[in-house]
Amino acid sequence: MADERIDVLVIGSGAAGGALTWRLTERGAKVVCLEQGGWIDPTSFASAQLDYESHLVRGDFHLDPNIRQRPEDYPVLVGGDYPIDVSMFNSVGGTTIHWQGHFPRFHPSDFKVRSLDGVADDWPVSYQDLEPYYDLNDNMLGISGISGDPANPPRSARQTPPLPLGKMGKTIVSGFEKLGWHWWVSDQAILSESYNNRPGCMLHGKCMFGCPMGAKASTDRTYWPLSIDKGAEIRTWSRVKEITVNNKGEAKGALYFDKEGNLHEIKAKVVVVCCNGIGTPRLLLNSKSSLFPQGLANSNGQVGRHYMTHPYVMGYGIFEDKMDSHIGPMGIPFLSQQFYETDPKRDFVRGFTMQGERTFGPFSQSFGLPWGASHHDAFNEVFPHQAGISALIDDLPDPNNRVELSEEKTDSNGIPAAKVIYSLTENTKNQMEFAWLKVKEALETAGAKRVYRFPLANGAHLMGSARMGNDPQKSVVNANNQTHDVPNLFIVDGSSFTTGAGVNPTSTIMALALRAADKIWEKRSDWN
Ligand SMILES: Cc1cc2nc3c(=O)[nH]c(=O)nc-3n(C[C@H](O)[C@H](O)[C@H](O)COP(=O)(O)OP(=O)(O)OC[C@H]3O[C@@H](n4cnc5c(N)ncnc54)[C@H](O)[C@@H]3O)c2cc1C
Ligand code: SF4
Repeated sequence: MADERIDVLVIGSGAAGGALTWRLTERGAKVVCLEQGGWIDPTSFASAQLDYESHLVRGDFHLDPNIRQRPEDYPVLVGGDYPIDVSMFNSVGGTTIHWQGHFPRFHPSDFKVRSLDGVADDWPVSYQDLEPYYDLNDNMLGISGISGDPANPPRSARQTPPLPLGKMGKTIVSGFEKLGWHWWVSDQAILSESYNNRPGCMLHGKCMFGCPMGAKASTDRTYWPLSIDKGAEIRTWSRVKEITVNNKGEAKGALYFDKEGNLHEIKAKVVVVCCNGIGTPRLLLNSKSSLFPQGLANSNGQVGRHYMTHPYVMGYGIFEDKMDSHIGPMGIPFLSQQFYETDPKRDFVRGFTMQGERTFGPFSQSFGLPWGASHHDAFNEVFPHQAGISALIDDLPDPNNRVELSEEKTDSNGIPAAKVIYSLTENTKNQMEFAWLKVKEALETAGAKRVYRFPLANGAHLMGSARMGNDPQKSVVNANNQTHDVPNLFIVDGSSFTTGAGVNPTSTIMALALRAADKIWEKRSDWN
């Protein structure tokens, strides 16, 4: 095993690793992916169990790896003025096992915030550069929705019709209509009808605990079967300890632990890191050598810095009518981008997406209610009468928000864990307060008799910690996701984001991954 030398080593099999491996394998590259977790049998998903809701507070499908503590997980400590617990999943498919499949794209303006708003930095790629890859990825996954949203550039016909808005959706959009605010049916990476050998959604509403049907596009059900058919190899239970380098400062391969704790070496012509916005900087910082004493690709000290996550402002309204918000996929049924672009009259730049939020089932709806004689009345008031709106805030980069190595904790192989330091910027704080007023106004206009703010922080969008840029002093990778320091090392996941935008990140992560695969393939004559 020590003597093999493959074309491309991919580390991490989630959204990015899945898409990139498929594209490279389809073109003819010999790709091996090392993944620290295993395949998850869909019948074992929490969503397939009657007590699925109890997994919100405990159990081996919990969103937070610190609570879940599967052997394949690693601890993620949090600190700073606004510590946000992190959500991720470590298995074949990565966090797409847990994700909700809401699939908006960045706006063209998101790539140019320095030019337009004088903040952060422009991306070295544009919406137009990514557009063909957004389209290719949509075709591969199958997206439900309707094209024609006036807030976004035109896009090709969606692969399946939109998922139902449901009573909650129709009620809230009536509020947007009355206010004259933009709204549109969301693109969702959840099939409404069968497509590419996967079935349409059954409207279970348990998507965050794994979709047992395969209607939700997790990469274990989409890209991985196709890649394996074409010859890609995925080595599960293979946790990478460090990326190795040769004496010329090129990536040589990786050292990884198998399930029994034995250490192996794999050699490759090109190495691509797809471990997400926390796992990637953690691995780079753990890959120290005499040539790279601060960690790999970190000669400028930028690895881990500019970490972004999307703080949420979440509001729920309680309505007289039944909303049945627990029925239907957890993915966002509709969105409003009325306040997405910069308005100089406000005390912040950039903006946010407002999105319809369903609820979990009856068990979680009882959280926080009084016990005793008044419990049933309180419960009957909220269930099934709640419907929500969240505002997903554009979180601009700040060098002090960062991922570093923990000095206290390690994973089960003794590799230093990650620590995330995060505080809100003034721009984000101002945006959040404005967004709350708009969320409240929309719910009240839709007819809610009572509105309350729900404390949701959202540590699920992990971005910016090995960012893209033209300037090698200020960024870690170039426009092709290639590191400035190590020519045959690529970083392809949310850590490469220059800015975070006001939408969910994964369609952009996957479009970047498909594009990076093409860039790697185009330069294959340089592989040696
Ligand atoms: C509850 C929830 C809901 C979400 N909903 C949405 C949504 O609706 N829309 C949206 O756009 N996004 C959503 N997201 C975010 C989305 O899941 C992520 O953006 C996406 O999965 C990131 O893809 P990735 O490939 O960068 O990382 P991941 O999917 O996290 O994959 C990284 C993989 O790398 C592996 N890995 C890490 N370190 C190592 C190592 N040292 N050795 C070997 N393997 C390693 C991990 O095990 C993991 O499998 C949601 C996330 C959560 C938690
Ligand atoms: S609601 Fe649809 S996407 Fe969600 S778990 Fe059920 S079948 Fe899967």
